[in-house]
Amino acid sequence: MPMLDYFSDHNISIYPSQMDIAFTERCNQGCDYCWVNKSNPYALNFNSAKAGIEFFLKMPVKRQTITFTTSEPLMIPELYQKTVEYILKNADSRKTLEMITTTNGINLNNQISRFIIKKIYSHKHFRLNISIDGRQQSHDAHRKLSAGCKKSAFDLSWDNFLSLPKNKVRVIFTVTPSEVDYFEQNINFLIASGFKVFDIFPQVFVLWPQEKIRKIEKILAYLVEYANTHSKESYDWRILNRLWGSSHYNKLLLSSDGNFYLFEWVMALPYRERKSFIIGNTAKGIDLEKRIRLFDVLFKNVAKSAKQRCLRCSYRVLCSCPLPLFLWCNYSGLDFDLYFSNFCKISRIFITASQKLNKDIRCDLDSRKIERLK
Ligand code: SF4
Ligand code: SF4
Repeated sequence: MPMLDYFSDHNISIYPSQMDIAFTERCNQGCDYCWVNKSNPYALNFNSAKAGIEFFLKMPVKRQTITFTTSEPLMIPELYQKTVEYILKNADSRKTLEMITTTNGINLNNQISRFIIKKIYSHKHFRLNISIDGRQQSHDAHRKLSAGCKKSAFDLSWDNFLSLPKNKVRVIFTVTPSEVDYFEQNINFLIASGFKVFDIFPQVFVLWPQEKIRKIEKILAYLVEYANTHSKESYDWRILNRLWGSSHYNKLLLSSDGNFYLFEWVMALPYRERKSFIIGNTAKGIDLEKRIRLFDVLFKNVAKSAKQRCLRCSYRVLCSCPLPLFLWCNYSGLDFDLYFSNFCKISRIFITASQKLNKDIRCDLDSRKIERLK
């Protein structure tokens, strides 16, 4: 088996340890910052899901993660539930298997909510992420419903979110240039509503104006300072950039067309452009050699397009190279150099904040005191 230098240099296994399952690319929302191209017309069936899962579970990796996070996993709730049950039944008890679901909450009705809550309490590594961008005004600013529907995405999901055990679910909070000015109010609102666990992401694939970059830098610095100095009540914060790269090398995607792809970011491309990223299918299995060859080619292309800047960068351990951004710019005809500079600035801000924030921080942050963040 050929071993890519990058893999051996960074002690990365040639076997993927994380598989994202996309049952369908259809979604009941049409968020304007969604990067999923949604041009794949297929839906996964249960037999293909089972076969794909079996191939993945056989990988000789001790810790594995299966995620339902790229498209909306509850679009086909019966398939989601059957698949979760199948995974839990067939997981190798000698391994640690984590399962992560991320939902926009619209289909989180009583029945599916009960199913998920039961799994959260009965399986230590079963996790639920919920996508909320704060108060209604900010949430609905980018989280639109599917074409033509004028209803509010917030109205359709908020009560569903409130029915969840709030200390057990992770809020996925996307900060956008347009809503960054309301960051404190949005966080205050979520804290006052009882949520305790947060992932804070910047909107990706967008150019952040300079004044908004300054704003996010200031806000994150205050947030970190505050979080690190208050520790009576438990909150859990993670400050991340979705495009950071080292984890890309651990991933693969089981797509709704029954093929395995390099990673979930290929879903940003029009369906017809994805063929070259296929690394297997549910009938034949995963082609590990092709997987490594593709990463090798991609990594070299990104490094060249980024003028080798990442290779010399001290932030690289966390940031790695922006593979998804490269793909996005390449296929959208955008100026990679321009987007790269922007990405780089945002990344440094998020990495700096993240480094200052203890990873397992437990902090005291209540809705009154966070006012001081201003
Ligand atoms: S809910 Fe998620 S998958 Fe659906 S449109 Fe919004 S960002 Fe995209
Ligand atoms: S901070 Fe910038 S130069 Fe450094 S690794 Fe990230 S994108 Fe590359």
